[in-house]
Amino acid sequence: MKKNILLNPQKFEQTVPDKKTQDLFDETIEFFEHKGNFSMRIDSNKRRMPTDYYQFIKESGLFATLLTPAGFGDEDARWDHYRLSAFSELIGFYGLYQYTLQVSVLGVGPIWMSKNEIQKQELAQQLKEGHVFAFGMSERNHGADLYSNEANILPIGDGGYIANGEKYYIGNSSRAPKISIFGKNAKTGEYVAWVVDSRERHCKYCGDIEVAGMFQGQLGHFEMIEYPITDSDILETGDGAFGIGLATVNIGKTQTSIARVGMATHMLYEAINHAHNRYLYGNRVTDMPHIRRGFLEAWSRIAMSRLYCYRAADYFRQANKETDRRYILFNAIQKARAAAQNEAAVIIMHNIMAAKAYETNTFAETAVRNTGNAVRLEGTAHVNMGQAVKFMNNYFNNNVDLPEVPDGKMLKDDSSSMFDQGFGKLKNIKFNDYRKSFKGCELANVKIFLEQAESLKKFSNESPMSKEQMKNQDFMLNVAEIFGVIAYGQLVFEKAEIENIDEMVVDQMFSYLVRDINSFVIRQVNEYAGHFADGQKENLLHIIKEPHIDFEREESLLVDYVFSLDGAYGSTYGEKINE
Ligand SMILES: Cc1cc2nc3c(=O)[nH]c(=O)nc-3n(C[C@H](O)[C@H](O)[C@H](O)COP(=O)(O)OP(=O)(O)OC[C@H]3O[C@@H](n4cnc5c(N)ncnc54)[C@H](O)[C@@H]3O)c2cc1C
Repeated sequence: MKKNILLNPQKFEQTVPDKKTQDLFDETIEFFEHKGNFSMRIDSNKRRMPTDYYQFIKESGLFATLLTPAGFGDEDARWDHYRLSAFSELIGFYGLYQYTLQVSVLGVGPIWMSKNEIQKQELAQQLKEGHVFAFGMSERNHGADLYSNEANILPIGDGGYIANGEKYYIGNSSRAPKISIFGKNAKTGEYVAWVVDSRERHCKYCGDIEVAGMFQGQLGHFEMIEYPITDSDILETGDGAFGIGLATVNIGKTQTSIARVGMATHMLYEAINHAHNRYLYGNRVTDMPHIRRGFLEAWSRIAMSRLYCYRAADYFRQANKETDRRYILFNAIQKARAAAQNEAAVIIMHNIMAAKAYETNTFAETAVRNTGNAVRLEGTAHVNMGQAVKFMNNYFNNNVDLPEVPDGKMLKDDSSSMFDQGFGKLKNIKFNDYRKSFKGCELANVKIFLEQAESLKKFSNESPMSKEQMKNQDFMLNVAEIFGVIAYGQLVFEKAEIENIDEMVVDQMFSYLVRDINSFVIRQVNEYAGHFADGQKENLLHIIKEPHIDFEREESLLVDYVFSLDGAYGSTYGEKINE
């Protein structure tokens, strides 16, 4: 039996840089394990507001510690992206409880990023008091089309304004003392970001929006009706307002994605506990070859996503607005692909658990319903892949020598870089030659993957998409998916090296990446047969390569890494875990 490379809260071994963080992790684990599966299932099934969880947030100082940058709170409060990511994974393990943290991250982000000191001081105090926060970007009629948002403030002189308009799908909006709002100045048409208090009488809560499982954050719809605003409520105007919104979403993307790693991991334990101990026709369910391969794939995809998310966090932590904004690519891929990989794993495990995963007393039921949220909300996978593909040329060409990105498990406040992400053309963002990361690697599937990457580079350089093809999002997004696997593989590999992951595991992981690339290429060739420009089809077909399939390797990984998880984590029903 080898070391478990996934999170197991009942045998928590994650490296944390300080005692306060360790205590917070321990208390959080204790809270959820003692709350127990039974109580969590009631929260989920009866749409019960988890007031015990809110009380825990308040009493433990969880959000005050995690969401207050250094200098505004107690000694251990800092905006530490590694710590935050690890928390999202941990809380995501227990389900949608992470959503309250998620929307609080989004809610406080624009305030910390603004120059409004009054708001910052108030926010620091409210965090200490144990409040949760909200982010009011979306509107019912406009979805991803933020340019059309209608919420607005009308200047009425003497630094006063009146805010009007509704916001829809806003988590925590029934109780947040600060909701960051994005809208326009009704007079000038400029973007504006401002803050409202959900408890104010001009802020009318129109009700919960019933979305499966979203009770934890109370997904809401509210309206600002002649809401009086003063200059001290304004965060930013013009491009700056739009900028702090997008920069906040850049952070949010990472948290919602890594929460899905936690969610899928929890389902994996449950699926193994169930299937490995269920006998059909006199044998274990896990004796069937398709079940074995399903488990290996699900485990590999979750583990890869975990490696990717933490490596993307490393890049984000050391970003610099002048010299290194590679995280914009890596975060987009985290949102679109790393999150989706957990959903892919959940689908495989659902097929294995079959009826059991519909039972509402299982965690699997939550995972089946909600792992995909991260893929579709807060900027859909389409939007993020559309962003990622813009980097393809610079990823492959005009490379520069950027310093190696260190492992991000250090004690550091990230607010100076993450709250000042800067603007500028994506075209100016440069990359190291990705091949440097793989130097010296002789693993069969990694080498095949690298050949595929070079073939995609050839496709991109010798038969690039035309303007019309780029405009056709179906064509463009599929190329983006192929490219996404390459950048994904780079970060997975880098983190696997840092974490000393067994070479056999890495080779197996890359066998899936090779298969994924092949699938996307085949899709493109099928969908656009007869409609390619000169050389495109040939260059695409050249990308397809056979993976190295090794049944012995698969079997040994199954025994050492996957089925050894049988019984490693068991849902508690409220009893104390260490007794
Ligand atoms: C549970 C939940 C929680 C949420 N929490 C919040 C919150 O706290 N705060 C908040 O502000 N919002 C929140 N949202 C809103 C969420 O961010 C939006 O759902 C999301 O931005 C997408 O909008 P839409 O779902 O209306 O899709 P639409 O905008 O209607 O998109 C329709 C389709 O068009 C595609 N599409 C749209 N634009 C593009 C593009 N540029 N390129 C390619 N494809 C495109 C989409 O991918 C999608 O397939 C939440 C939503 C839900 C359901």
